[in-house]
Amino acid sequence: MCIICKIINNEIPSYKVYENDTKLAFLDIMPRSKGHTVVVLKRHALAVEDLSEEEVKDLFAAVKKVADKIKTALKPDGFSIGWNNGSAAGQVIPHLHVHIIPRWNGDGGGNMHSIINNPGKEKPEDLIKIINS
Ligand code: ZN
Repeated sequence: MCIICKIINNEIPSYKVYENDTKLAFLDIMPRSKGHTVVVLKRHALAVEDLSEEEVKDLFAAVKKVADKIKTALKPDGFSIGWNNGSAAGQVIPHLHVHIIPRWNGDGGGNMHSIINNPGKEKPEDLIKIINS
């Protein structure tokens, strides 16, 4: 059983921010900012491609609920929200988890474009044909 499933089953303790029948949000054990929270579906699934459209809606409804809760409580200036989808993207735990990282002006953190700079050689007019074929 993966570590997130163990957290869901209360075999590993966590500080819960939100929970219902299908979702759980808890404080990240290694927070990158104050209030860094992880949101998961309780059903074990590796990546977004493995979720149904309904599960995606359910998960992102929880992401909004948790972000709203953190915004009210901690009053950050913004959030970085995202997930590492697949090992190539840095996913270590094989259970999709969305990070909600509260951000403050001048906190020294980067943005999404700071994660990777490897755009490939294809021109966008060629790339779009490949993607949409
Ligand atoms: Zn799991």
